[in-house]
Amino acid sequence: MSRRDRLRDHHGKRDFGRTGEPAGGSPDAGGDRPRFVVQIHDASTLHFDFRLQVDGVLKSWSVPKGPSGNPADKRLAVPTEDHPLECEQFEGVIARGEYGGGTVIVWDHGTYVPLSHDRTGRPVDFGESLRRGHATFRLHGAKLRGDYALTRFRGGRGSGDAEEAWLLVKTRGGGASRRVGTPDPRRARSARSGRTLAQVAADGPGE
Ligand code: MN
Repeated sequence: MSRRDRLRDHHGKRDFGRTGEPAGGSPDAGGDRPRFVVQIHDASTLHFDFRLQVDGVLKSWSVPKGPSGNPADKRLAVPTEDHPLECEQFEGVIARGEYGGGTVIVWDHGTYVPLSHDRTGRPVDFGESLRRGHATFRLHGAKLRGDYALTRFRGGRGSGDAEEAWLLVKTRGGGASRRVGTPDPRRARSARSGRTLAQVAADGPGE
């Protein structure tokens, strides 16, 4: 069975109606749920930063094309260093010459529900599922909604020095995102302030 078929099989077996999501959750309800943020970062290369709150930090991936709401799109996601939780709020300009210098907007943010299971359907600790290289979760953002998977396809345990690479994919389940396909990072607006990258850059150094 191909890798892709195995993944499809994995998702096909899941019963999304039974995944223990607390009742009555609106996008910003559930204050004890872990948070996620997707920032657009106009640094030396324009990219999206996808971050999930896990075990007290923001686990982070650089996603060159950004997340897609279309399950047919497989988006490359390259791990970057863990960030402190406060970074979830950051929107502004990082000075040139500093690490990550450039403009940042919060393209989307909200909470997520960990959904990672093992092959028998038993829940797996979310941080552990990331260490193993396959994690599933349901996003409750302003733009991104529904179930996504992050899957490592290169690097990681026992692979020597290969640089890690992952795929971020919308899976079928948990509803549809408002945004389908590729966001245009130059036209996209902040979920916090409604501003574009250009407007934030014009407003000058950070908050
Ligand atoms: Mn970045």
